[in-house]
Amino acid sequence: MLEQQLHEVRLDCHQHALGPKVVNVCEHCGKAFEYNDYLIREVGKFKHHQAMHSLTCRVCGESFPHAAAKTFHQRTHNPDHVKCIKSGCPWVGTNQKALDLHVKLSHTSILCHLCGNKYACNKSLHLHLQIKHKVNG
Ligand SMILES: [Zn+2]
Ligand SMILES: [Zn+2]
Ligand SMILES: [Zn+2]
Ligand SMILES: [Zn+2]
Repeated sequence: MLEQQLHEVRLDCHQHALGPKVVNVCEHCGKAFEYNDYLIREVGKFKHHQAMHSLTCRVCGESFPHAAAKTFHQRTHNPDHVKCIKSGCPWVGTNQKALDLHVKLSHTSILCHLCGNKYACNKSLHLHLQIKHKVNG
């Protein structure tokens, strides 16, 4: 077996450090960032600025602590959206089918009658019964 190879990327900074400045316009707010493409620090500033927008709702501008919260929120702008029926659950889906699947995966649990452990589906309960309690079938 060959060991996994590490691919190293060589940057020839010297040649390009004094090249012409590049102007990048933020696609979200139109703010212009002028920087030399080969100065990592400056590129980082632009990337950081764009990342900030990735946590902001494109429709109403509300900002969120993490990407998943924003994704769920943005779906509420869709007229066909469905919200999770369980209170306190932030989940929002694009259609009924997605909601059914979400409820099945996240909120449905089956108790093991022997030890009380919770399982999301019959299949994992059966597996648990077989492995832990040596129950067949
Ligand atoms: Zn911006
Ligand atoms: Zn919004
Ligand atoms: Zn839910
Ligand atoms: Zn059990």
